[in-house]
Amino acid sequence: MNAAGTESKPSPISGRGLFATRAFQGGERLAPYIGDLLDTPPEVRTPGQATYLVEISPGRWLDGSAPTNPARHANHACLPNSELILDTAAGHPWLVALHPIAAGEEITFDYGFSLAESLFHPCKCGAADCVGRIIAGPLRPALRRHLRFSRRRD
Ligand SMILES: [Zn+2]
Repeated sequence: MNAAGTESKPSPISGRGLFATRAFQGGERLAPYIGDLLDTPPEVRTPGQATYLVEISPGRWLDGSAPTNPARHANHACLPNSELILDTAAGHPWLVALHPIAAGEEITFDYGFSLAESLFHPCKCGAADCVGRIIAGPLRPALRRHLRFSRRRD
């Protein structure tokens, strides 16, 4: 699948990342997110594996871990510059730019992890207010409160 305009290379966030090799406009498609479709909720066997699984509709999962998925190296960030948008006709999502992206910029999106998943996935995105865990944006305020109140008091 063609993903002209992006490349995979070592990332300051984690492992390999997906980078823009040219400028993109907001709303432009960056790379397709493709893989095998699963009808049963995948078991999270090892923490690393979960980062490639995307629930594209209720009870339907896409396993993006295969090397043929051009978008598989895109990292999570607390302030992402893209989002996964499902192309229902194609049956798979695309990474779409949330705002203009410069050539050389790392492409990130919100993995949308639950609180339980976030416990196994530290976030090193580097944002000033990084919550420190890979967790869905809407859940971040609850996690911040939890971390504040679970701090040891002595
Ligand atoms: Zn972060």
